[in-house]
Amino acid sequence: MAHSWSNWSKTVTATPTEVATPWTTAALETTVHQALTQGRRLKAVGSGHSFTGVAVAEDIQVNLDNYTGTVAFDQQTGRITLRSGTRLWQIPQFVDGSGWAMQNLGDINQQSIAGAISTGTHGTGAAYGGLASQVVGLEVITGTGHSLSVSQEHEPELLDALRVSMGALGILTSVTLQLVPEYDLRTVEAPTSLEGVLTNWEALNDQHDHFEFFWFGHDHNVQTKSSRRQSIQRHTPSPLRRAQQWVNQELVSNGGLAVISQLGRRSSRWLPALNRYATRAWGRSDITAHWSSAFASSRRVRFNEMEYALPLDAIPEVVRELRALFWRKNLGSAFPLEIRSAAADTAWLATNHGRATGYIAAHQYFRQDFGDYFGQIEPILRAADGRPHWGKLHTLAADDFPGLYPMWAKMSDIREQLDPERVFANPYVTRVLGP
Ligand SMILES: Cc1cc2nc3c(=O)[nH]c(=O)nc-3n(C[C@H](O)[C@H](O)[C@H](O)COP(=O)(O)OP(=O)(O)OC[C@H]3O[C@@H](n4cnc5c(N)ncnc54)[C@H](O)[C@@H]3O)c2cc1C
Repeated sequence: MAHSWSNWSKTVTATPTEVATPWTTAALETTVHQALTQGRRLKAVGSGHSFTGVAVAEDIQVNLDNYTGTVAFDQQTGRITLRSGTRLWQIPQFVDGSGWAMQNLGDINQQSIAGAISTGTHGTGAAYGGLASQVVGLEVITGTGHSLSVSQEHEPELLDALRVSMGALGILTSVTLQLVPEYDLRTVEAPTSLEGVLTNWEALNDQHDHFEFFWFGHDHNVQTKSSRRQSIQRHTPSPLRRAQQWVNQELVSNGGLAVISQLGRRSSRWLPALNRYATRAWGRSDITAHWSSAFASSRRVRFNEMEYALPLDAIPEVVRELRALFWRKNLGSAFPLEIRSAAADTAWLATNHGRATGYIAAHQYFRQDFGDYFGQIEPILRAADGRPHWGKLHTLAADDFPGLYPMWAKMSDIREQLDPERVFANPYVTRVLGP
């Protein structure tokens, strides 16, 4: 019976001709080798949390839900090797009690480790890269059927090609992460003025380990989220603090957003008032939590998302341009824009390759058309030398990228070597990397 698949936001669907669900490395290798012998195409899928068709499998879908867990954990060096289907939420339990932690994480923890690094998933923090920056080794089966073990020490260039590669160079079997000493995060959320944040954007990033802000485009105010790392304390947050956290996460991010999204759908004339209401409802909170629970939250209201990576110092002017656009055209969304940062990375296709980076993400309720909203924002982000997130919606194609990524030509060469028959291509990969 045909198996149909769709991504989290329901923007893409696929009906693969076959689904492989390997439990072991040997089974995974057999799946890939048989497909190669038969001249078939295959594509691994993680948790399907990309908004683009990057994970679409038209022929064989390699589902790695059962291919999870630790391959090795060196507690001296803090290096952990994970099977590629391991979900981010599983990692804390593997390192629990060891004194080690992941360096940084994004908004959610549902993704697989291979899927997350492959599209350049990131959190925030001007001194920290995305998840791919934590990768010091990979094992991959390429399109020529070779199994390669690639490490930072021995093949740094190949690792830089593979770390963010949309599954286009091979199926990753394992991912080795460099962990950091365990820490707590003290996170303060507070409303403040948009202009104040834009004026101090780089200083705010310097002053905090992790800084980001959420801006409902029709308001003068924003909600900031600033975190500092501190040493581990075994503590239980007070009931009041837990209540503050619940209000911010559940009422405003989930339940409240659902109501606002429904109202915003009925009439865009209500958007400015709804935006102002949402910022006011989002209160101040001050929470200290273990790293394992500090970064991710649940996202139960579905949405679609576009995100561009810009030079860090371009953020204030670009946000001011967006404000002018929103106010001039009464354009907007029930969701806030999310503005984050990352340190430069050397991974060839990392959106933060070679430059300190600021990210601007726009969201639209999944039942609402995103075309006009994203379509009007995108030219402004592109004009600022923006690079789209590989897993989030955008309209760029292969010809647009050589000017954005200095290592583009080398990436094409490596793809030619590792996947000459384009076994791992799909329509999205072909669109962005070329045939
Ligand atoms: C609610 C939500 C919140 C999000 N928050 C953030 C955020 O904070 N920051 C951010 O940057 N992004 C965020 N994203 C985007 C998301 O992190 C990325 O799209 C990520 O790639 C999804 O991981 P996945 O496991 O679902 O991978 P999938 O979407 O299933 O696959 C992504 C790519 O990885 C490839 N792949 C998967 N496994 C393998 C393997 N073993 N070998 C080779 N290739 C493989 C797939 O073929 C595909 O090309 C969010 C998405 C959603 C829906």
